[in-house]
Amino acid sequence: MTDTALDPAAPLVVDTAELGRSAGATMRVEREVAAPEAFGPDVFRVPESSPLSVDVTLTSVSEGVLADGDVEATAEGECARCLAPVEDTLRVRVQELYAYEGSVTEETTDADEILRLQGDLLDLEPAVRDALVLAMPVTPLCRPDCPGLCAECGVPWDELPDDHRHETVDPRWAALEKLRSVDAESDDRPE
Ligand SMILES: [Zn+2]
Ligand SMILES: [Zn+2]
Repeated sequence: MTDTALDPAAPLVVDTAELGRSAGATMRVEREVAAPEAFGPDVFRVPESSPLSVDVTLTSVSEGVLADGDVEATAEGECARCLAPVEDTLRVRVQELYAYEGSVTEETTDADEILRLQGDLLDLEPAVRDALVLAMPVTPLCRPDCPGLCAECGVPWDELPDDHRHETVDPRWAALEKLRSVDAESDDRPE
């Protein structure tokens, strides 16, 4: 958590001046913005600049502003089993309290627990990021029953015949095995 000043022009920074500070007042924030940075780990993430759809209602409460609404984004990554590209639309609920500067909440909590307003500005980004990352699967899969890759040759099982397998031959028998295959080639009997 940094103390750097919020940029009012940042895509997820909201100016609440219009909301005012009388408890119960509400203000709706609907935005289609580009993700200011990538959210999530490399294997599965909402890429930087990808579209975010934000629909949040801000409610003035005695200690600050409550943000409550939905965010939609598309996450991309690769299947943890077969490495095929995976894309998924994430729809998440965002619920976050932002404490007014100088409020009791601000004085008695850590900025890591309760976010703060800076003057009239609040930043939805940390709340949006947390909600999206929480909704991401720990193990992204192209489909729930993805069979993954053959451990021997690395080819996806989906592209291999059902009877695909590798003979594992003891090195001591390999020489003998070679002789046998030469033998097999020399006669025309079907196997
Ligand atoms: Zn897969
Ligand atoms: Zn194989």
